[in-house]
Amino acid sequence: MHGINLKRVTIIGQGLAGSVLAFSLYKRGVQVRIVDNNWKNAASKVAAGMWNPVNFRRMIPGWRVEDLLPSMLKFFSELESELDVKLLHQKHLIRRIPDEASRKLWKNQEEKLQKYSDLKASLAEADAMNWPNGYGIIPSCGVLDIPLFLEKTKRFFINQDAYCMGEFSWNEPLPDDELIISCEGYATRNNPYFNWVPIGANHGEILEIKDPQNWNSSNILNCGKFLFKAPNGVWKAGSVYVPENEQLTPIDGAADEIKEPIEKALKERLSINNITVGIRPTSKDRAPVMGFHPETKNIGIFGGLGTKGVLNAPFFAEQFSEHICNGKEIDREVAIDRFLKKHYDKKN
Ligand SMILES: Cc1cc2nc3c(=O)[nH]c(=O)nc-3n(C[C@H](O)[C@H](O)[C@H](O)COP(=O)(O)OP(=O)(O)OC[C@H]3O[C@@H](n4cnc5c(N)ncnc54)[C@H](O)[C@@H]3O)c2cc1C
Repeated sequence: MHGINLKRVTIIGQGLAGSVLAFSLYKRGVQVRIVDNNWKNAASKVAAGMWNPVNFRRMIPGWRVEDLLPSMLKFFSELESELDVKLLHQKHLIRRIPDEASRKLWKNQEEKLQKYSDLKASLAEADAMNWPNGYGIIPSCGVLDIPLFLEKTKRFFINQDAYCMGEFSWNEPLPDDELIISCEGYATRNNPYFNWVPIGANHGEILEIKDPQNWNSSNILNCGKFLFKAPNGVWKAGSVYVPENEQLTPIDGAADEIKEPIEKALKERLSINNITVGIRPTSKDRAPVMGFHPETKNIGIFGGLGTKGVLNAPFFAEQFSEHICNGKEIDREVAIDRFLKKHYDKKN
């Protein structure tokens, strides 16, 4: 990186990735500038904002959760003080157990999950539902108020005179004496430097629900689909995950797919006030992607946060910042280099 001013970085895209990376660099004394085109279907604009340390499919602790969870809590708690705002809303997640086999699986995994789950806990709102196979609790979950975080981040960098609203064009000649980092979410595929990185577009939807009658809990309900009251007071339910689908309007049947298991769990019909659609940027192996272009060394990328943006962003943004500022190694499993041979070399 000889000749590049590492103290000046332009970040393209102010979703979760760009916002978290911006603060991470800023606190290391880097002069950060953000450019964002305010795309309404950006994943971060639509995301529920939940974090959950458990992989429900396999009933084991989630990928690298021992690193990710403490880093996420520390990062946003520090920002709460810096910005004087409440961003983290810690909650229990109440998981309705659908059948005997699922209860057995959870029970078998109890030892591995002991730090994160409680199969014997009792919560009044869940007891009242009389679910035939009961429920378990994941206590260390919660919701990040993403809309507020994005708004406060924007304000912060506007006040620093370091925010530019509009489309960044990669086709103009770019300066070669400062770093430019793409945090463009799934729009990375339109970026001529990084369109070879296998980041897929996965359609998701969130329903805004009229207040349920049988459920007035401050915790998160999970019955395959989730329901919770967001920090702005709106009940949100989700989600669907439709791989390689960029449709920006609701998909036929998706709302029912979300609503029906929740209606079954709550024993009531729900009505939908609104549906929002977002496109998740998910890498081929589902791990985040970061690093610099193999030839144009001042152009970088931070993205591919997938379904776990809240947990992934802080730990890996801090790691990328350490790489940029102090030359620390990037973990191999998230480094862009893992895609070079198959995707870049083949293309060129
Ligand atoms: C329905 C749904 C529910 C989700 N729920 C959760 C959840 O509960 N918990 C969780 O952890 N994750 C969740 N996610 C995933 C999470 O939203 C993503 O991991 C994360 O938001 C990705 O952030 P990003 O900044 O990489 O991308 P984006 O949010 O897509 O941000 C990219 C930004 O770049 C801007 N941009 C792009 N190109 C340009 C350009 N050329 N010039 C200027 N600006 C540009 C866009 O306007 C946008 O602001 C959910 C996603 C969806 C769709």
